[in-house]
Amino acid sequence: MGEKKKLSLAAQIFIALVLAIIVGLLMQNAADFANAYIKPFGTIFLNLVKFIVCPIVLFSIMAGIVSMKDIKKVGIIGGTTLVYYFCTTAIAITIGLIVANCFKGFFPALTTTDLSYEAPAGSSAMDVLVNIFPSNFLKPIVDANMLQIIVMAIIVGFAIILLGEKVAKTVEAVNRLNDIFMKCMDMILKLSPIGVFCLLTPVVASNGAAVIGSLAKVLLCAYLCYLLHAIIVYSIAVATLGKMSPLKFFKGMFPAIMFAFSSASSVGTLPLNMECTESLGASKEVSSFVLPLGATINMDGTAIYQGVCAIFIASCYGINLTLGQMVTIVLTATLASIGTAGVPGAGMVMLSMVLASVGLPIEGIALVAGVDRIFDMGRTTLNITGDASCAVIVSNIMKKREAKKG
Ligand code: ASP
Repeated sequence: MGEKKKLSLAAQIFIALVLAIIVGLLMQNAADFANAYIKPFGTIFLNLVKFIVCPIVLFSIMAGIVSMKDIKKVGIIGGTTLVYYFCTTAIAITIGLIVANCFKGFFPALTTTDLSYEAPAGSSAMDVLVNIFPSNFLKPIVDANMLQIIVMAIIVGFAIILLGEKVAKTVEAVNRLNDIFMKCMDMILKLSPIGVFCLLTPVVASNGAAVIGSLAKVLLCAYLCYLLHAIIVYSIAVATLGKMSPLKFFKGMFPAIMFAFSSASSVGTLPLNMECTESLGASKEVSSFVLPLGATINMDGTAIYQGVCAIFIASCYGINLTLGQMVTIVLTATLASIGTAGVPGAGMVMLSMVLASVGLPIEGIALVAGVDRIFDMGRTTLNITGDASCAVIVSNIMKKREAKKG
């Protein structure tokens, strides 16, 4: 029954996606209308998702930690997750750099005079680290700062475990609150086909022509890397470490993939991603911890995009990057992707950090800014698929450990 219901939501989202592309293409001359009258409904839907995502992250992580009843176990899951996230992101950016270097000869030579891009106040690696820790109990929720919410949930979750039986009623309350917010999410997600349609139609209407424009080859290069990373890295990881057929994995992830593609927000996709991974068999305690963390810090698609754009921008300026500079890009893009918020367009802001690290002109971002949304749809899709692969893998590892313990 559950399976049937999910399939039908997936089918609905898929139909919405196809309709949005068709309607968007038909509305290319009426892009302003699409932006003025269709997009707001998409924004309403995305707002509802954002509204529910903070309590979901807070309570699902807390409930997940509390249900483990053991700080050591949280440490093992957290440690395994972080290692997987770092490794896959470093591989992603390496793939991005290799493929972009092969494509370099085909990239268009756009003129770089008269470019201007106002880089927002950048954040260094140390800023990223310091900003993980909240200095106020409410501000993380008010600002929807996911990383800080995760830290809050971990601290409070640990305290609950340490207090044990004394706070049994609080454990019950945390679980029930988690149930309530999950139910809210369930209700909001029922609207996702409408949300997907209203979000995607204006994008296609405004960008349809740009896709076949001068940046097509750069976009193609990025999408090729996204695909390669998903097909090679995630398939191998899921099959070997997660003991799951990659086909089953991608099929089960389809609703979340379509949602991420149209919303360009990892955080917005989080609730649906949780549903998909759990229906794939990932345990709730693992997915409720691994996915919110991933939606915040694990961005393989963003890392690929930053690598491809760095090579493209360098080639437009006639700069050949050295091997040392490429290694620097691997390091900074990994860090930049951690600091990237899971919302539309955030990866482009962090691109300035990557460009600056190897002395490339930040104004170069203006070259790709026009079609950022199209890059973003693909990179977000990869970002959330990476998180889900981790949930499946860590779940399998933990199940095995438990079976051994017996
Ligand atoms: N939109 C991306 C995400 O939500 C972040 C980015 O802009 O790269 O995962």
